[in-house]
Amino acid sequence: MAKKLSEYSKKRDLRKSPEPKAGRKKGKGKRIFVIQKHDASTLHYDFRLEIDGVLKSWALPKGPSTDPSDKRLAINTEDHPYAYKDFEGVIPEGEYGAGAVLVWDTGTYENIKKENGRTVAMQKCFDRGHIEIRLEGQKLSGGFVLTKLKKGKKDQWLFIKMKDDAADARRNPVSTEPRSVLSGRTILEIEKSDEQDPDQ
Ligand code: MN
Repeated sequence: MAKKLSEYSKKRDLRKSPEPKAGRKKGKGKRIFVIQKHDASTLHYDFRLEIDGVLKSWALPKGPSTDPSDKRLAINTEDHPYAYKDFEGVIPEGEYGAGAVLVWDTGTYENIKKENGRTVAMQKCFDRGHIEIRLEGQKLSGGFVLTKLKKGKKDQWLFIKMKDDAADARRNPVSTEPRSVLSGRTILEIEKSDEQDPDQ
């Protein structure tokens, strides 16, 4: 599989960026997901899903939708370390992904992909290019599908809400709920707080 954790370290100078060092999950506990709002050269949302101790990652140019008729493009990017789930701050100018990062949503998830009554392992779902999960976050909940496009460029997936009780075509959490679920800050507040920090 391409895009291992080593690629994460290669892309970054972690002496200059406050991002966490490469590392896998230690210990057990329910598997998590996180969505980070990232004000890089273009604003996007990074969806990360814990699979086998690392965070599989996709960049969503428009962010997630709770409307099942929306098919949101999700570009698969390099695996991120487990500790990235708590990363909020500013990646400095000149570094990879420079700009503010905000933890937009986080929570646990359940693998709901079954075949002949048995759950298909997450890594296998990833390799096949079709993932079905139920999220339990603060902003997003219920079933979601991540499916790799057969045509078009490799790495292009779609992120789609399943039709269930948590589906809502009128809700638009990306615009109505912009704040961090960790600190309550907006992306602008994170950018500003970094400027005021004398250690930076
Ligand atoms: Mn990003």
